[in-house]
Amino acid sequence: MRTYAGTLLLEDIFDYIPTTNADIYNLGLAVFEPNILVVENNCHTTLGKFQTIDFEAEGLTELSTETVLSYNRITTLLSQGIYSAATRHSSTCISKGGICVRCYKATYPDKSVPAVNDRVTLKPEYLVNAEIIRATPTNNIYSLVTDSAQYDKYNVFLAGVLLVNGTDYSITGNTLTLSVTIASETNLVIRFLRIDRRPFLSWLSTTYAGALLGMKPLVGEQLPIRPLFLASTLTENRLQSISELIKASGKIPIDYTEYSDLIKDPLEKALYMLAIFSIYYNVTS
Ligand SMILES: [Zn+2]
Repeated sequence: MRTYAGTLLLEDIFDYIPTTNADIYNLGLAVFEPNILVVENNCHTTLGKFQTIDFEAEGLTELSTETVLSYNRITTLLSQGIYSAATRHSSTCISKGGICVRCYKATYPDKSVPAVNDRVTLKPEYLVNAEIIRATPTNNIYSLVTDSAQYDKYNVFLAGVLLVNGTDYSITGNTLTLSVTIASETNLVIRFLRIDRRPFLSWLSTTYAGALLGMKPLVGEQLPIRPLFLASTLTENRLQSISELIKASGKIPIDYTEYSDLIKDPLEKALYMLAIFSIYYNVTS
């Protein structure tokens, strides 16, 4: 039966992939944090990721101008009645066989900019909350409200420029101390991010394999890279050997293990196998 309860019970299942089997664990990493090739400087995507334009968008890269959104730029857009824009993001990169430098840089502004032919690891980072602080030249200590249990990291932007943690500012508890001097009042935008595997579950919930697991389709955030490309990185041999391993584990009902061989899409198959292995391993161990 497909129910929201079924989906909710499974919500965090991909956070509990057993570490006891290296092949399963590594398949999880290959799916959730894939290490992929930087194939070109610019994929020339014209689509980009849809973004509502407000002051929380500071730090994202506007596709049409290839510039990082700053307080001034956002003010200009809003004054022109522009309330949404396409932004550069790894999820909409159209490079064949990998990712482009520009989409990577825009998605992970805190990471060093890769060169073509480098390999990069794409973590599933999602925005938890963006805080906008009005920074003034006479004050350098500001209070934050976002619960630190909700995020794994943060990026801080001033005038569209990413500040360096520990040099330009520091955050201790709920206090942000600014070390750079500012000439006039402006916005300081703190983007709190969480490494989150739940969008993969949302994606699985829309497939037939998800229905078999009792999930109702959920609308989730886009995956960090296009599902078709991610699927192309998972070889048939690798998935076949995982399928054999799961069958041999003896913990999972045969109806579930045999179904995995019928799934054509490599990403659906990988996520399905990771889900059933984690469910039964965690239940019966
Ligand atoms: Zn791209």
